[in-house]
Parts: sequence; structure tokens; C-alpha cells
Amino acid sequence: MPSKKPSDLFPLLGSHVPTVGGVSAAIDRGVGIGCTAMQIFVKNNMQWFAKPLPEAEAKGFREHPLRGKLGAVVAHAGYLINLGVEGTDNHEKSLRSLSDEMLRCEQLGIRSLVLHPGSHLGAGMEAGIGCVVRNLDRLHAEHPELKVRITLETTAGQGACIGARFEEIAEILSAVKDPRRLEVCLDTAHAYAAGYDLAAPKGAAKTFAEFDRIVGLKRLTVLHINDSKSALGSRVDRHDNLGKGKIGLDAFRWIMNAPELAAIPKILETPKGKDLAEDVEAMKLLRGFLKKD
Ligand code: FE
Ligand code: FE
Ligand code: ZN
Repeated sequence: MPSKKPSDLFPLLGSHVPTVGGVSAAIDRGVGIGCTAMQIFVKNNMQWFAKPLPEAEAKGFREHPLRGKLGAVVAHAGYLINLGVEGTDNHEKSLRSLSDEMLRCEQLGIRSLVLHPGSHLGAGMEAGIGCVVRNLDRLHAEHPELKVRITLETTAGQGACIGARFEEIAEILSAVKDPRRLEVCLDTAHAYAAGYDLAAPKGAAKTFAEFDRIVGLKRLTVLHINDSKSALGSRVDRHDNLGKGKIGLDAFRWIMNAPELAAIPKILETPKGKDLAEDVEAMKLLRGFLKKD
């Protein structure tokens, strides 16, 4: 079967798809609702460890008959992992857990593993960034052979979370030994809560120009498309359905039509029920924003 180029599937648009019933079921589910890109957890996101992924299950995912309908499949790392601290029990667990997730991604043929950089838990931003950098270097050194890239996600800056300011992401990228092994994910709800006013006139254009200046758009490989329930600069991470939150639809219309973002997978992480009807509706809305020429 001749495989399609991802560009035949543009826009690469989809959502975070549940893996209930196994990873392969997520492909059926994602393609079933019209995704051309999707994000999954490679294990339970609220647990440190999981049983090894049987090779037959991984092969079933890699060689799934509908896999070619997805131009991009990315993974999101578990929520317990924190690379912002050292010398604690959870530090070692975080490294082992993330290491395990990197290996699972490799097994599944997934090239991007989205990760929240971590929390400094009160030690201060500089100390926290230093820990993240050392931990990333350690993971890279442990796994010189892996193709999967850790994809640092911009955060809302809740509590002591690292990565709300683009400068913090840039600092990590410039300090690690092998920055080519890192990528970046921008989450619109997080950016807004962190104080980037995507809702202002030309707010999206300004935000992405600033991102380009500080981090570089060439590092951006995943976009999380979420409206924000919480206010600009609130540093509170609450996703909302598109058009229901504080960002409003103009920013999302701009993002869908920005040539510099055209090739980047766009993933919804907005509230939804079991049947994923809200995702279907949001994708329809976003595809409707595309300018016909
Ligand atoms: Fe995230
Ligand atoms: Fe996100
Ligand atoms: Zn979030």
C-alpha cells in the first residue's frame, strides 16, 4: 500500500484520544472521528509505571491498517513526572518513568513525547531549570539511540511550574548538551493563562512572533489547541471548549491559516464526553476556518 505523505493529510488536526481497549483502539477511535493527527498516553498518565507493552500490541499499532490516515501521532508523558527536582524519591522515579515512556514511544514508532518541564517546588526558577537540564542530559545519555524527542510543553505557570515564559523554555534548550534532541509544544490555554494575550487584536500573531524570537518556530513541532476557562495571566490551567473560554475564536482562526504553522500537528485537549462528539464539532469548526483559495 503506497503510504501517503503527511502533506496530503493537511491540516494535521486531531485530539487527545483515549487508549481504552489498547493503543491500537486509539487509532480506530481517532481516525473514526476524522483525526489526521492524534495524541495518546503511552501508559496510565496518573501512575509511575506500567506493565511492559507486549511487542504484538506495539506491532499492531505500528502496522495498523489505518495508521497511514494519521499524518502525526504524538504522545503525552505522565503527570507525575517532574524533572525540576533532584535528590528525592520522586526524582529517581521520574527518570525511570520517563525513560520507560521513551522506550514505549520507540516501540510504537512515536517520535514526539510531550512533557511538562517540571516544578521547582519552591527552590526557585533558576535552580529548577538547572535540574531539568541535568535530568534531560542524563536521559539523553542513557538513550543515545532513541529517535523519540522529548517535546517540552509551555505551561500555565501554576504553582512552581517551569515553562510558562518562553524564555524558560529557551534557557533549557540552550543549556542542554544536545538541543537537537528536544522539541517544543505550545499550548494556547497555557500561554494565555501565562499572560500571552492571544485574545487581543492580532494577539495570536504577536504571541507566535514572540515565540519565534525567543524559542524559534523551527523548534515547534506540536500545538495544543485549547480555549482557556481561566483569565489572562491567572496562571491557572483550565482548558475550555473552543469559543466557550476567554481566548475566543479569532486566535484559532489565525492559527489555522498561519502559513508558518501549517505543517504543525494541532491537537485539541478540550473537555469531552465518551463519544468524543465535542472533538468532532471542534475539528469541524477549525477546518471551517481554513481560507479557500
Ligand atoms: Fe500537557
Ligand atoms: Fe497541553
Ligand atoms: Zn493544560
